[in-house]
Amino acid sequence: MPPTKAKSAPKTQDKLAKLGLRTDMDLVLHLPMRYEDETEIVPVREACLRGGYTSQVEGVVIKTEIAYRPRRQLLVTISDDTGELQLRFMNFYGSQVKQMAEGTRVRARGELKHGFFGAEMVHPTYKIVNEGAPLPTALTPVYPAGEGLSQTILRRAISDAMKRVDWTDTLPLPMRARLGLTDFEPAIKLLHYPPQNVDPYELTERTHPAWVRMKFDELLAQQLSLKRAQKDRRTKGAPVLGAIGSLSERFLAALPFTLTDAQDRVLREIRADLRNPFPMQRLLQGDVGSGKTVVAALAAAQAIDSGYQAALMAPTEILADQHFRKIAAWMEPLGVRVAWLTGSLKKREKTMATEMVESGEAQLVIGTHALIQDTVNFANLGLVIVDEQHRFGVGQRLTLRNKGSAGLVPHQLMMSATPIPRTLAMTYYADLEVSVIDELPPGRSPIVTRVVDQNRREEVIERVHAAVLEGRQAYWVCPLIEESEALQLQTATDTHLTLQEALPDLNVGLVHGRLKPQEKQEVMDAFASGLVHVLVATTVIEVGVDVPNASLMVIEHAERFGLSQLHQLRGRVGRGSAASVCLLMYQGPLGPVAKQRLATMRETQDGFEIARRDLEIRGPGEFLGARQSGQAMLRFADLETDQWLVEKARDTAAALLQAGDERTVDAHLARWLGGREEFLKV
Ligand code: ADP
Ligand code: MG
Repeated sequence: MPPTKAKSAPKTQDKLAKLGLRTDMDLVLHLPMRYEDETEIVPVREACLRGGYTSQVEGVVIKTEIAYRPRRQLLVTISDDTGELQLRFMNFYGSQVKQMAEGTRVRARGELKHGFFGAEMVHPTYKIVNEGAPLPTALTPVYPAGEGLSQTILRRAISDAMKRVDWTDTLPLPMRARLGLTDFEPAIKLLHYPPQNVDPYELTERTHPAWVRMKFDELLAQQLSLKRAQKDRRTKGAPVLGAIGSLSERFLAALPFTLTDAQDRVLREIRADLRNPFPMQRLLQGDVGSGKTVVAALAAAQAIDSGYQAALMAPTEILADQHFRKIAAWMEPLGVRVAWLTGSLKKREKTMATEMVESGEAQLVIGTHALIQDTVNFANLGLVIVDEQHRFGVGQRLTLRNKGSAGLVPHQLMMSATPIPRTLAMTYYADLEVSVIDELPPGRSPIVTRVVDQNRREEVIERVHAAVLEGRQAYWVCPLIEESEALQLQTATDTHLTLQEALPDLNVGLVHGRLKPQEKQEVMDAFASGLVHVLVATTVIEVGVDVPNASLMVIEHAERFGLSQLHQLRGRVGRGSAASVCLLMYQGPLGPVAKQRLATMRETQDGFEIARRDLEIRGPGEFLGARQSGQAMLRFADLETDQWLVEKARDTAAALLQAGDERTVDAHLARWLGGREEFLKV
């Protein structure tokens, strides 16, 4: 058996490692989450008068007893020149009883209460001291701690580490001066041991210049790392898709419409990228209905014209299927072989599709996650298109990107209708070029949005009836029931039945997530062809579904949906020339957040504005899932309140790299990211 001492040391290290604290610098950068003031001792009488506050007192034990009231507890009465006070411990060890024998001097800190037996502190922190023992001169830091790690252990580990680290400032002096930044070492020392004269508010709110320095350093590290990743990407080879040949030309000529100016502009941006010998990484943003698909198809045409394959991956089968139909209808008449690949294919069909992809016979492949399976090998993949990119994990997108051949990385085009807030675009997405379609195709009439109490259901049903009689179609979206998929399904089935009964002269269809892909398809087809007049649906229709003749959208229990979801759902109408209406039915009473959301929906149809307000209501952390938000990687800076610092950090990073100051960059990254840089790259 090894001696216990030797055993306990690595154990502490393991616990520290669990908190990500491996190196001395990690420990030094483990900054307090709050502070306690132990710098003064309050006379007992004054502490009693204050009441209700946390204070530190010191006195001599005049009585120690174990009482049963009714539970066993330890009662210690201490006294100083000004008064007496009781310390009460519900859980205690025998050693504590001995420790606090009469005559001992105790320094205790806790919240003072006036209990039944007079003034007392319940479970104070305390220590035994000698008379005149010095008081700390700094506020006492309280650190984020893990299981089994006491503040004492952390404090000691950190103060030991502070003695060993290299304090060299990673930022050159002129830069610090220009940006008005505090020096690194004094900033860190102040945060660990703040002197008494520091404004406690600035410390807790993290607005003190020392905090600003930490946040800046952290953001700078993030920016540098992202910019390096960008540079790395440029050193990787990609197929040069230089040809805008006969397919692209015939495709454009055959389109039943002309591109909007915005589509034209983003197409030119994409075309230029595809001619580069390094991989494109571009995000195509455009509100729902802005016409991203045709732009993506034209990018694919360029890849095919250049002799390469293109792949399009969508998050759901319904959406993938829509793309397939639309794009195949455009491309197949021009002689392009389009393959269809999803998880629900029969084994034989899947094998056939995979073989077409592998032999290069399929020039364009459209599908779901099935595209990224190990069994799928592309002959010569030149372009990867990912629709609704935020619905995929980083890993999934990477896998598709790794499906290139001959050591080449395919170009990547990601599409999203969810606009990314500016701070996120500058942080997590700093390695993306962004193209924005900021214009809807002509001839769309705006959608009128109404918020309706659900007790006016009859009227709403009437409305649906009237729309159908005018030759239009309607969606009826069933409430989201997050707790239970089964319940949600039940509600959808019930709604379907009631609507069928209420509208006996109409065809009411039902689509939900539990249908087999083929059944789903049959319903969607019937709706697209006009055979089904009203489509009762769960949120499976949320993204991408495109039936221009549908002009009425009813959303039940709209108060349960998030803003971006409501916006996506509403985007299913307003796709044709008929005036469209969206009815948001709600069940009152509405909470403040739901009220705000519904008001936003009524007031604006602009996806960017909606995203902005969503950010206001929810904060960026939730925006794209914490994993992707970029906030997850930040410990001190806050993307919302520290936006001004994000901008400074971005400019500084650019300047450092521009100047070729690799030494500074390396030193700064090593200090702030250590081995975590790889994580930031994906
Ligand atoms: P989203 O950007 O939401 O994916 P889609 O690509 O599905 O939008 O396009 C919405 C609809 O607009 C489709 O029916 C599409 O064919 C049509 N469309 C796209 N571009 C134009 C255009 N320039 N003029 C007219 N209609 C267009
Ligand atoms: Mg789309």
